[in-house]
Amino acid sequence: MTRWTRRKFVGLTGARLLAAADPKAALAQALPRVVVVGGGIGGATVARYLAALAPPIHVTLVEPKERYVTCFFSNLFLAGLRTLDSLSHGYRSLAEKSGVMIVHEAATGIDPVARTVELKSGSRLPYDRLVLAPGVSFRLDAIEGYDEAATEVMPHAWNAGPQSVLLRRQLESMEDGGVFLIVVPPDPFRCPPGPYERASLVADYFKRHKPRSKILILDAKDAFKPQDVFQEAWSRHYPGMIEWLPAQFTGATKAVDVGTRSVITEGETFKAAVANVIPPQRAGALAIETGLADKSGWCPVDPMTFESTLQRNIHLVGDAIIGGDMPKSAFSANSQAKACAFAIAAELAGSRQFAPHLFNSCYTFLARDDAFTNALNFRPDPVTGKIKVVDSFVSKVGESAELRRKTARHAIGWYAAFTRDTFG
Ligand SMILES: Cc1cc2nc3c(=O)[nH]c(=O)nc-3n(C[C@H](O)[C@H](O)[C@H](O)COP(=O)(O)OP(=O)(O)OC[C@H]3O[C@@H](n4cnc5c(N)ncnc54)[C@H](O)[C@@H]3O)c2cc1C
Repeated sequence: MTRWTRRKFVGLTGARLLAAADPKAALAQALPRVVVVGGGIGGATVARYLAALAPPIHVTLVEPKERYVTCFFSNLFLAGLRTLDSLSHGYRSLAEKSGVMIVHEAATGIDPVARTVELKSGSRLPYDRLVLAPGVSFRLDAIEGYDEAATEVMPHAWNAGPQSVLLRRQLESMEDGGVFLIVVPPDPFRCPPGPYERASLVADYFKRHKPRSKILILDAKDAFKPQDVFQEAWSRHYPGMIEWLPAQFTGATKAVDVGTRSVITEGETFKAAVANVIPPQRAGALAIETGLADKSGWCPVDPMTFESTLQRNIHLVGDAIIGGDMPKSAFSANSQAKACAFAIAAELAGSRQFAPHLFNSCYTFLARDDAFTNALNFRPDPVTGKIKVVDSFVSKVGESAELRRKTARHAIGWYAAFTRDTFG
């Protein structure tokens, strides 16, 4: 069933009829129509900023879920340091304060010639510009035995929500002395420091509740960033608890055996009490199915406007795109979304466009009161047409405990401000 939320919303089918009698509806029809698919960080930010921009634009946001749970800070939930409720956000403010039309449905197709988006219910939304922010999908065919059913036994928890709850329950019921195994996928994937933050925060939980337990990280890579900062913190906070095994030691993860909760690599089989298998990723399914991704599995865009280089009038932001030097993070998605909203508004107004400044500023927890920061500035490179990093700062090893405590406190404030900026 389609659920529409917006005061005085005029049903699509009756819109034309009502427009004759209702001047507001007539005005809404005359406005340029932008449909945004995906109400996560990228999509919600595009919708909110477009709705606020002049010239007035009629913005519709298509998102099946009534509440969005942030992946960022979900590792704190796994450690018992945040409730899932505190990470959940609804769409009321976007609808009521920003005037965005919210359609709680999944988009199932796009007709780029007729310029319509098809919804699961069969209805169609017309657009002048379409923005897609569908996040990532998981390559469940990449690891033998790791299918949809296996995710219920060996959760990835790489989309926050029921998967996070499942993993948290498994960690809570694990016996002290058990092995928690994390399988890290090959690049590129959502939130590059995320698996190592997860290891850190689960170790924080184990240290207090199951101190004889171990954490084993099976990595598809031979290095990660900032490795020195993580490893210094692991030996300071959790000596002997976390072991990181690079690909050169174990080989790639080939298969899982759900029955024995084992992970099979090229070289060895690892049995776990709790196994967190984070599968390889690609752009969200809708982008793949509608031909907006290239053979890498990710979507190429013009970094000036975030318009697809494969299909005119369709823009993409967030984890689904080929973002050059930008990591797949919520901060990147939010920054790209603002640049995209300004570019669309400028195009619709026929005004000049300027190369956007793009940012990423991540906070990563090493323990409940120890966090580091990673801040990067980017610009589109006019020669290569790619997004290049122009300036960066990463916390260093040897920083004082006091500075790290302040960074952890700052991160809490960032979460509140950032989610307000996104969802209103
Ligand atoms: C454990 C973890 C920790 C993280 N920590 C951080 C951090 O500290 N800082 C940071 O910046 N980033 C962090 N991230 C990354 C961040 O969560 C993602 O980069 C961000 O959510 C990407 O935003 P997005 O809009 O591209 O995708 P998403 O936020 O995933 O949103 C996609 C939305 O699209 C919707 N959708 C998909 N298909 C359809 C369809 N067909 N029709 C309609 N809607 C659809 C989905 O329901 C979803 O709501 C973390 C990620 C993880 C997993």
